Amino acid sequence: MTKSPKTALIFGISGQDGAYLARLLLDKNYVVHGTSRDAESSMFSSLAAVGAGGKVTLHSAALTDFRSVLQTISKVEPEEIYNLSGQSSVGLSFQQPVETLESIATATLNILEALRFLGARTRFYNAGSSECFGNTDDVPADEATPFHPRSPYAVAKATAFWEVANYRESYGLHACSGILFNHESPLRPIRFVTRKIAAAAARIGRNGGGELVLGDLSVRRDWGWAPEYVEAMWAMLQLPEPEDFVIATGEVNSLQDFVATAFATQGLQWRDHVRIDPTLFRPSEIRCGFGNAAMARNKLDWAARTRMREVAERMTVAERARLDGQSFKDMSSR
Ligand code: NDP
Repeated sequence: MTKSPKTALIFGISGQDGAYLARLLLDKNYVVHGTSRDAESSMFSSLAAVGAGGKVTLHSAALTDFRSVLQTISKVEPEEIYNLSGQSSVGLSFQQPVETLESIATATLNILEALRFLGARTRFYNAGSSECFGNTDDVPADEATPFHPRSPYAVAKATAFWEVANYRESYGLHACSGILFNHESPLRPIRFVTRKIAAAAARIGRNGGGELVLGDLSVRRDWGWAPEYVEAMWAMLQLPEPEDFVIATGEVNSLQDFVATAFATQGLQWRDHVRIDPTLFRPSEIRCGFGNAAMARNKLDWAARTRMREVAERMTVAERARLDGQSFKDMSSR
């Protein structure tokens, strides 16, 4: 007898990670459902880019509205839920702190409450963030590193992290958080600095001139490749006992290194085209953030395969292809 396919529900399927996770789960023969705040008007261009358009069932859901969350989970009856929804920009969170807190912390609490209310045996993955650690300085953060959030976004993610831990301990839910360091791809929304850099380098390379205005280039980060990071999300939900994991490459580079790599793919010197604007500096910036994913390697058999240089190169090459009128090529399998 063939085993019936598992059903997964992805809250926030229209985003970068939602698209790559949908692709991964379809390849694993899951029945995939996903939500957007307004599924009628959302374009779902990222789903189309990874070849998942038309292959998933879409729902409108407002995660800050308990009724909406309860109704969606009751209707889909998923074996696995992935919560990837919420205001995801650190920069924007300084301008929209309440929206950020509600779309992350209230939303997560609503999912946990719905699972508790329904008595569901659903496994739950919540998108945590390395921003919770604040500065890691010279020691990479792991699962035992204390949180020191330095933005409204990080405060919201830390709140959601403890909500998940509390419901796991209090009610025995199979619920976990992945504490993911930055992961990028050509599907990153344009407001994010890595995509902004890749797009500008490609544009300047094509046009032979132009300028890119950026903030602090000395900040150091751990950049990975998004399609690999969604593999870790899935692996976490396959464990018999839920645990939280740090997901990272373990390599740290400055934003200037990222800029230099992106411009070099177009045969350009970044210094000829980049202007620094101090008004773009954040009220409280993380100087350095990188992670130690040893626990993921041991328990999930997961390790990052792609490092910053390849990430920057692939993103810039994809932007150049877009400008040259070539269709976006999904690079998740590379
Ligand atoms: P995206 O920004 O690409 O996608 C998030 C989705 O959340 C959006 O597509 C949007 O879908 C939905 N959403 C719900 N409420 C809001 C809101 N108030 N403002 C904006 N969007 C909202 O994020 P990623 O796919 O990159 O990340 C997935 C999750 O992982 C997020 O929670 C993010 O914070 C977290 N994360 C991401 C990291 C990264 O490097 N990418 C690192 C660590 C954590 P719609 O408009 O259709 O409703």
